[in-house]
Parts: sequence; structure tokens; C-alpha cells
Amino acid sequence: LNKPSQSLWERYKAIASLPKRNPFSHKGTHGKGLLIGGSYLMPGSIALSARAALRSGAGLATVASPGSAWPSVSSHIPEATAVDAKEVNGMLAGRLDVDFSNFDAIALGMGMGRSNASQEIVRQVMEEADVPVLIDADGLHHLKEFLEVLKNRNRPTILTPHPGEMAGLLGITVPELLARPFERGRRFACSHGVYLVLKGPATIITAPDGTQVVESSGNAGLAKGGSGDVLSGILLALVMQSESISEALCNGCFLHGKTAELLTGERYSQSDLLATDLIEGLSQSFRTFS
Ligand code: AMP
Ligand code: MG
Repeated sequence: LNKPSQSLWERYKAIASLPKRNPFSHKGTHGKGLLIGGSYLMPGSIALSARAALRSGAGLATVASPGSAWPSVSSHIPEATAVDAKEVNGMLAGRLDVDFSNFDAIALGMGMGRSNASQEIVRQVMEEADVPVLIDADGLHHLKEFLEVLKNRNRPTILTPHPGEMAGLLGITVPELLARPFERGRRFACSHGVYLVLKGPATIITAPDGTQVVESSGNAGLAKGGSGDVLSGILLALVMQSESISEALCNGCFLHGKTAELLTGERYSQSDLLATDLIEGLSQSFRTFS
């Protein structure tokens, strides 16, 4: 904590390190992602994440959501497959009967809901999944009850809170967090051994060793429900296709923000941009930046 290392993520770094498509690849080459979340009343989040993951180069996306949400999810992303999952009151419940080693990375929590019955899945993934795991949204709400599991993981864990969720993890208020976001973020990432993506108009990405990068692309068009779910899907895909987790996270935030900038300079305004537009706009970003 004595010698903070901080830098800005920039366009030339992204262009040098974004994943390249191998001409001899097959769908397994680019990563099989498992996305756990969604609920009967919130099927959209996990659909946005799965769609964004496939639009960001992932080879395969498998969704674990309640069966009652699956028809809605799959209608928005027919390329995704599903695994069976138990539910109570339209929310995931109990353990998942899934072999996590069949996947290259997992994203957990988007639209999951806050039922106590869902907490067991978060714990199961933390304790049993021997692959990189990204936790967002309601997954973070569950995780805060047993943060001590983070230290026992031997593969990367990535947390992607917005300021409200981060303040919840720390047990402080949002103004307290925003008075010292770098220091609070670094202490948390170092003490729990996680990658932390503290989202906001400028996003602070901290590695477990305390190294921090600021990614400042994007605009207020992103201040709308669904933006964070899209980011989780992009990050999942890039983590599976990159050697360096830190670079994958910086590139994902860069693509997310730059896509909003590209779209709001052309077809859309910052008022009307939707998370869905952002996903479709990724095609333009990939052509521009890779
Ligand atoms: P969430 O709150 O989980 O939906 O995540 C919102 C996403 O949009 C994060 O990636 C934020 O960094 C981004 N975002 C939200 N508001 C702004 C803003 N005013 N300027 C730039 N990015 C933003
Ligand atoms: Mg969110």
C-alpha cells in the first residue's frame, strides 16, 4: 500500500492487447462461458450479459437461470444453451448440478434477485469453481455475507460493483467511498485477493497486487439500467480470450465506453441509448479497435 502504481488505459494499449481471432480456431478456442443469474421477474439482465459475451468473441455461452425465465432469455439470445437449475418463487435456489470444469470462466449474479435461497449457489461457485469467476449485481449482495471465502480461492475472482454495491461490500456510505475511491478500492482488492472493477464515470480497475488503472471512456448514455449487465458479458468474454486478467478488464471497460461514445456521436443520443444498442454497437468498436 506504500507505493501506489496508477496509470490510465489508452487506445494504443487496447489495440495492442485486444484478442485476435485465430484462423484455425473452433468454438472451444475462444472460451466456454457459464452465466449464472436471471429470475422470473428479471430475465433481461442475464440475456444482455450472454448476448454481450457472444458479441465480444466468446465461443460458447451457457446460462443457468430459473426454468421460468429461460424462454424469455433464449428468445433474446438463441445462440446460448442452458443448464437445469432449481428455483423457488422464480429465483435460483439450492445447488447447481453442473461440472464447473467444463467452463473456462463464470459470470455470476446479474438479475439473480436477492432471495436467501440463491445465496447457496454463490457460495458453491466460490468454493468449487476452479476457473476465473466474475461476480456482479445481486451476486455481490449475497457475497457480502461470506467475504472470507475469497481468500481461499486459487483462481482469479473479479468483482464489478457500482459505487452503491461497493459501499455495501465495505459497510460504508457512498459519499464515504467516493471521498477516497482509490484507497478504499486498493485496500479491499489487496486484503481479499481480488480484481476489483469499481464502476462509474471513471472506472478504477485494481489488481490483487494493488496496481490500479483508470479507464475513463463512456458517457452518461451509459447511466441506464442494463449497461452493467452488458459490461459483465464483455468482461467474461475477454477474460476467456486473454492471458492477462488486468488487460482483459481494462479492454472490456474501454470497449464498453468507446461503443457508447461511437453510438452517441452518430445514430443515438445520450438520452435514448439502450443497453441493447450497446451490444449491437460492439461490432463497430471491434472493427475500429482491433
Ligand atoms: P451498472 O450501474 O451496474 O448498470 O453499471 C453501469 C455501467 O455504465 C458501468 O460500466 C459504468 O461505468 C457506466 N456508466 C454509468 N454512468 C456513466 C457515466 N455518467 N459516464 C460514463 N460511464 C457511466
Ligand atoms: Mg449493475
